[in-house]
Amino acid sequence: MSADPNCIFCKIVAGRIPSRKAHEDDDLLVFHDIAPWAPVHLLIIPKRHITTMYDTNEADAPMLGRMTALAPALMRELGVTNGFRIVVNTGPDGMQEVQHVHMHVMGGPRPWAKG
Ligand code: AMP
Ligand code: ZN
Repeated sequence: MSADPNCIFCKIVAGRIPSRKAHEDDDLLVFHDIAPWAPVHLLIIPKRHITTMYDTNEADAPMLGRMTALAPALMRELGVTNGFRIVVNTGPDGMQEVQHVHMHVMGGPRPWAKG
């Protein structure tokens, strides 16, 4: 499935819900979390609808690698030079709320609201 009409992140990819974008290319979109835990809180998502990390496989490794590689580059661009966290919540026990794979990238001076 390339897009799920009921998925909030697919709606963001389609521009049907606004977001504060930090990066966009053919495969990935990065935008600021609407309820940030940290001074800088980005969500890196594949544009293609993938429900959870359980739905990824070896063929997705380049895409997952690019998501990971974007994190330090964007943090540096946004002035976060003292460290950050990457979190990928997966499934019910992982407390995943939005069912479209996303990488939280959180940084900036502490204290943070959460995390
Ligand atoms: P998770 O619990 O890992 O599924 O996290 C979902 C994240 O998506 C939460 O941190 C929400 O604040 C964030 N979120 C939900 N809706 C939006 C939106 N419209 N724009 C930006 N971030 C959102
Ligand atoms: Zn989606």
